[in-house]
Amino acid sequence: MGRDLIALYTAACALLAAGIMASCTTSGIESTANLDRVPTGSKLTQGGVTEKQMFSEIRVVKRFIPKGRYGRKVHRSMKPRYITVHSTQNYDGDAWDHARALERGKLRAPKRRGGNRIGYLTWHFTVQQDVVMQHLPTNEQGEHADFDGVGNNYSIGIEMCEHRGNSRTQTLERTAKLCASLMRQYNLPLRSVVPHYHWPRKGLKPEHKNCPHYLMTNGRPGRKWNDFLQMVKREYKRIYVPAQIASRGFADVREKEAIYQGL
Ligand SMILES: [Zn+2]
Repeated sequence: MGRDLIALYTAACALLAAGIMASCTTSGIESTANLDRVPTGSKLTQGGVTEKQMFSEIRVVKRFIPKGRYGRKVHRSMKPRYITVHSTQNYDGDAWDHARALERGKLRAPKRRGGNRIGYLTWHFTVQQDVVMQHLPTNEQGEHADFDGVGNNYSIGIEMCEHRGNSRTQTLERTAKLCASLMRQYNLPLRSVVPHYHWPRKGLKPEHKNCPHYLMTNGRPGRKWNDFLQMVKREYKRIYVPAQIASRGFADVREKEAIYQGL
């Protein structure tokens, strides 16, 4: 499997790689609040959850690429401004296979000026129907979108699995929840959730990749992508910000963490 995976990646995904997609159906309760208005309250009501609860609801398993090795050989810090969604187009490998391959430095890409900067493909999360694997901390850059462009320098990369037997609906649901949780965590608007297609890849043809392919319409964002964004929005609205955090203007990520510990 590992070798097939690599072959698939080096051949098909070659220089770019990493993609996830997301969209989902959810039973979450919709708030009537405007997306930009922050629902607050120290109690969770009507099925509302905190960003932290949503994060654990989707079962995020941390399997980081070893620090100082392979795709993390050089530390490259990042302040997330976008969330980039891809799909793997790998019909054999599941999230565990991708985690293993990343951990062992198996996903190589030719390092070149103006292209891949580190010789490896990396991204932050891989989602499948029943789990989310995390490969990189969200404050480190990945190598999944557009070489030295904004997509790699400022976005969290999510890959959606496409292996046989994996439920696309459930994968989309998990991805939508992951996006919503990250939006809350980093105070990002819905427009910060973009498909890989969004980022031009200098020197490649086509410049905009058809990724995640099953959420694109004729190779570009259309109705299916918008439907996915609506799912993200619905999940986002389910998230309540505890009063202790809202009263501090959201607090920064570390401060939030401390407040959550004390709740
Ligand atoms: Zn992609």
